[in-house]
Amino acid sequence: MKESIYAAVCGEYGKRVLPPVGTAYDEDYTVIVCPICQRKTLDNYDICRHCGWEYDGFPEDHYSAANGSTLADYREQYKQALKERKGHDV
Ligand SMILES: [Zn+2]
Repeated sequence: MKESIYAAVCGEYGKRVLPPVGTAYDEDYTVIVCPICQRKTLDNYDICRHCGWEYDGFPEDHYSAANGSTLADYREQYKQALKERKGHDV
C-alpha cells in the first residue's frame, strides 16, 4: 500500500478548512470533491488530506502514475487503510 494513504488516514497531513466545492482557492486551485474519499480537496495535483490521493484529473480507468494506481484500486487501498487504522486504535 502507498504510504501516503496510511499517513493521510492517520491524519499526518493535518487538517485544513476548505470553502464550498467550486470555490477558487489560493489562485491555482479550485475546491472539488475527492474522487476517492468524497470529501473536499483541491484540484491541480494537490494531495487530499483525508486519503492521500494526488488529484491529477484523469478518468476512472486511467492509470495514475502520480498515485501508482487507478482510482478504483486506490479506493480499495483506502478502504483497507481505514480498516487497518481501526485495528490499531487503542
Ligand atoms: Zn480524498
